Amino acid sequence: MPAPVGLQAAVLRHILKHRFLGTRRFPLVLMLEPLFGCNLACRGCGKIQYPPDVMRRMLSPEDCWKAADECGAPVVAVAGGEPLIHPEIGRIVEGIIARGRYVHLCTNALLLEKNLDKFKPGSHLVWSVHLDGGEEVHDRVVGRKGAYQTVTRAIRAAKARGHRVMTNTTVFVGGSPDAFRAFFDECMGMGVDGMIISPGYAYDNAPERGLFLDRAGTHAWFRDTLKDWRSMGWDFNHSPYYLDFLEGKREYDCMPWGNPLRHVLGWQRPCYLMSEGSPASSYRELLETTPWERYGRASGHPNCAQCMAHVGYEPAAVVEGFASAGNFLALAKEFLSVKRSPRMTARLPAPGVPGAGVPPPSETGSGLPAL
Ligand code: SF4
Repeated sequence: MPAPVGLQAAVLRHILKHRFLGTRRFPLVLMLEPLFGCNLACRGCGKIQYPPDVMRRMLSPEDCWKAADECGAPVVAVAGGEPLIHPEIGRIVEGIIARGRYVHLCTNALLLEKNLDKFKPGSHLVWSVHLDGGEEVHDRVVGRKGAYQTVTRAIRAAKARGHRVMTNTTVFVGGSPDAFRAFFDECMGMGVDGMIISPGYAYDNAPERGLFLDRAGTHAWFRDTLKDWRSMGWDFNHSPYYLDFLEGKREYDCMPWGNPLRHVLGWQRPCYLMSEGSPASSYRELLETTPWERYGRASGHPNCAQCMAHVGYEPAAVVEGFASAGNFLALAKEFLSVKRSPRMTARLPAPGVPGAGVPPPSETGSGLPAL
């Protein structure tokens, strides 16, 4: 939730423009995967099973900028694979920011510390760092002992240099609500600017199929874990309506076009999580030729039945908040009711990190949803 004011304004302008134009389907976040290659092999990953020739492919900076231009979403989430492996990742990000877009640079953070110099801190860039729980859970999920320590050191180093950092957490079967509540405190203690959380999606080709929560399990887990989140000082980078949806207090259907995915094979149909049919060669073709009515929970598609992932459902929650003046006022009231964390960077210096204690960029604040 604590998003830069400029980002909030950009999202608001974007939604109002499309409402004014009467656009039926429009994107909020472009998901951009300039490569599938990764330096981890996580247990719940559905991205690293492509054949070797596909795993070696990379989008050029020009391909990435073209995708951002075609799609027009105010936010571009650069993911993968591990984007820091891409030799031109610095130029890719710079070019997207030069277009006035806000970049969420998604990383497992193993290479973050040594790459920090390639990036200038500012309100248009936020690191979205993969952290799937406390030390034992995260190291188990990513299959690497010591990963948690590397990631948390990198988060502190990035914060110390004035970067905006969010954690990005996927929840799987067996995660203890109490342990996760302690984990959220821990993240806020590191001074992060927000937390993203979503139930894992049961990818057809994920290495472990038993890891994923079904809908009932998702409702129960989020109800237990988030029961009092509004008073806990946890800054989730979500619409509060999406968190209500995870707890089973609201119902939405999926808007897969809200977070379209461009990767090394084209524009994936229908969504970030599932691939059916051949990828589209342009964003326009994706929008115009995908049979959208076949997807989402209401469609009865078996791969959608248990899905509650933010890439599909958060756009619906965000759009609801802007559907009318009344909804907007209700949303604003909702935000004001949430207890904010004190900015913690200054009071939690990490041992051995020079410069810890630098306050976060001033544009970072709380307010309207960052999506
Ligand atoms: S419900 Fe939406 S986001 Fe989930 S798999 Fe189906 S189309 Fe994709």
